[in-house]
Amino acid sequence: MLRQVGGALPAADDTYEPGAHPTLELAPSILRQAIENCEFSLAYQPQVSCRDGQLAGFEALARWRHPVDGVIVPDRFIPAIERAGLMPEFTARIAGQALSWFRVNILSPPRVLADSMAQNAPSLSINISARNLAQPDFPETMTGLCERHDVDPSRVVLELTETSALDDPVLSLELLTRLRVQGFQLSIDDFGAGYSSMQQLARLPFSEIKVDRAFVATALQSATSRSVVKSIVELGRSLGLRSTAEGVEDEATLQFLDFVGCDLVQGYFIAHPMSGEKLADWLNSAPEWPWRAWETRRS
Ligand code: C2E
Ligand code: MG
Ligand code: MG
Ligand code: MG
Repeated sequence: MLRQVGGALPAADDTYEPGAHPTLELAPSILRQAIENCEFSLAYQPQVSCRDGQLAGFEALARWRHPVDGVIVPDRFIPAIERAGLMPEFTARIAGQALSWFRVNILSPPRVLADSMAQNAPSLSINISARNLAQPDFPETMTGLCERHDVDPSRVVLELTETSALDDPVLSLELLTRLRVQGFQLSIDDFGAGYSSMQQLARLPFSEIKVDRAFVATALQSATSRSVVKSIVELGRSLGLRSTAEGVEDEATLQFLDFVGCDLVQGYFIAHPMSGEKLADWLNSAPEWPWRAWETRRS
């Protein structure tokens, strides 16, 4: 049985205020300006091993606090950036910010964290868009950013949603293979929400499969969701992919995921996404990390 002991959970510092962003027109010029003015920041959410709570990595999630209209959610600005054709610039900016944070706070951590960080070798997950796969120089851009920030690409996981990965399977295969060759890990995000066949999935060089949050969130109430989650974990295992469940909000869901053999978990039960400073402080100041104090007891 899984038990979480010690260490208070960090407070969410990026909860969205509903109604704070009702009517703003996300015109391309506004988006371009926002990218140039560095109005986008990142929140980082820890990912831990389902079995023993060991730190496995962090997912970088973009945040936009518009100077006038307040917080705008990614589900709104990401599609707008895609439509405006600004994904190459956006992803490069976000990836640069994330890699810089990762280098300073995780790979070269101050004080006590150094040993544990080296031992765990946590990874950095960055979300990318199908539009990036239509960018012939995308693998070189990403490699260049990794070089600049002195991060080995093997520590970087690029997350692509199931639906966008299969937009154009031929294009995807070419670009994804080049990213793999450069050393990046590749993750198929929100799996279960689309309609990929096992054959399509097996052709693409992924290293991780992320169970769509909708199934994780309803796992306790719905037998259908439970069997979907279980099948996705098993599909991943049969293809040699690590499985990650996101949106884990309570202990019972965590226990179910452990029971079906899911590898990694991410969600409010473990930690909310946090600003880089907050997360670094939290990592440094926690006398005992919650995920370290996590105890797995099997009888
Ligand atoms: P995603 O990549 O599937 O990210 C997981 C989403 O679930 C995040 O929403 C995260 O804040 C949220 N989440 C994590 N744990 C929990 C939980 O326990 N309960 C609930 N209810 N939610 C949880 P967020 O940050 O709003 O991002 C939404 C989507 O926007 C992301 O889904 C991703 O597809 C996209 N996105 C975010 N940042 C970027 C980015 O930098 N680039 C690209 N291309 N897409 C991004
Ligand atoms: Mg993601
Ligand atoms: Mg997801
Ligand atoms: Mg999503």
